[in-house]
Amino acid sequence: MIATATKMTDKQAAFLKTLFSKVYGENAPEALLAWLEAHDCTPTAKQASAQITALLNTKTTAASTVTIPDGIHFTDGSVYRVRHAKTSGKQYAERLLTQIEREENDGKQWLYEASKPLVSLSADTLLTLAQARAFGHAYGVCAVCGRLLEDPDSVEAGIGPVCAKKF
Ligand SMILES: [Zn+2]
Repeated sequence: MIATATKMTDKQAAFLKTLFSKVYGENAPEALLAWLEAHDCTPTAKQASAQITALLNTKTTAASTVTIPDGIHFTDGSVYRVRHAKTSGKQYAERLLTQIEREENDGKQWLYEASKPLVSLSADTLLTLAQARAFGHAYGVCAVCGRLLEDPDSVEAGIGPVCAKKF
């Protein structure tokens, strides 16, 4: 007897239909049909599973490119300022430099890093007051505006009084 590959299950077919409509919207029926025809209308369970993975990844990528709020973010021990460029409309990030790094960068407070840091940022990485204060204590720099903390009260708080009100 010739071994045949396991066919796509009903569960996979139903899930694929949902995913196609989420990713392709009103073009979903054509996209689904094109995919079925590419597999002679009898996709195997393995092919269906690969397509499910691909569609799930598409969805995640599309969502993550639109949901990073502009503002101050904190991830992996670094503070980032995220903005949209006025002319191109592109979102970009600048990393807040520590005092030592500033000496190596002509006194610059924020270093332009283009879109590279954006992949690790989301609404969940927006800077909290506790993170700002911890950063201020560690580096002597206000994590919101980037200024050096010089006033004794600000040094103790780890953040400037005006910036602390933003939380
Ligand atoms: Zn400040």
